[in-house]
Amino acid sequence: DIPVICLDGPTASGKGTLAAELAHRLGYHYLDSGALYRVTAFAALRAGLELDASNESAIAAMAQTLPVRFIGGRVLLDEFDVTDAIRSEEGGMNASKVSVLPAVRTALVALQHSFARLPGLVADGRDMGTVIFPDAPLKVYLTASAAQRAQRRHKQLISKGIPATIDILRADLEARDARDMNRATAPLKPAQDALLLDNSGQSVEESVAQVFEWWVA
Ligand code: C5P
Repeated sequence: DIPVICLDGPTASGKGTLAAELAHRLGYHYLDSGALYRVTAFAALRAGLELDASNESAIAAMAQTLPVRFIGGRVLLDEFDVTDAIRSEEGGMNASKVSVLPAVRTALVALQHSFARLPGLVADGRDMGTVIFPDAPLKVYLTASAAQRAQRRHKQLISKGIPATIDILRADLEARDARDMNRATAPLKPAQDALLLDNSGQSVEESVAQVFEWWVA
């Protein structure tokens, strides 16, 4: 059996940073499942498709054969580097729109499973523990207050020279959380056997230490 650690939680809860750090230290593979939804949305828009239910099967067909590659921290769609384009707030909102479409979610299952290879995997997303890797031996559900998450996101954007307003970021992330939690298919929620980690007051190092403690237990 391939060891899989699932990290699920709402937007900007620090999953990405924590997951990448854990994968790095364990020498495991890393699945950024959000990037798959972001790239799917990007590809659909590029093809001129609106991101709504009327295009569900067309978008799902694209997701099924998504020509995405992860190379050295960059995300490539065909030969194009789409890393920055998909990382924007708009990219997140667009991802959230395609992620409510059940056929799109189904189309991405096999691709996500293909990341589970030896020596192991750290999987970051919304439904890693509930749907994609239900038998994973460790499932962590990360949370942090909306205020904290908005602040972190703000710091990230400002450091990249992207202008941003905390209040708007907070409203956007709460809107995205609401859509993710209220959708009919694979809504965002902790798996029954998930361990809850509120990292509001924690450094990355402290969160890493906590997950390691659970992992070796
Ligand atoms: O994690 P990230 O912010 O990149 O995810 C973007 C969006 O993709 C989320 O807001 C959510 O709507 C969707 N998503 C999902 N299931 C996942 C990962 C992401 O529905 N496993």
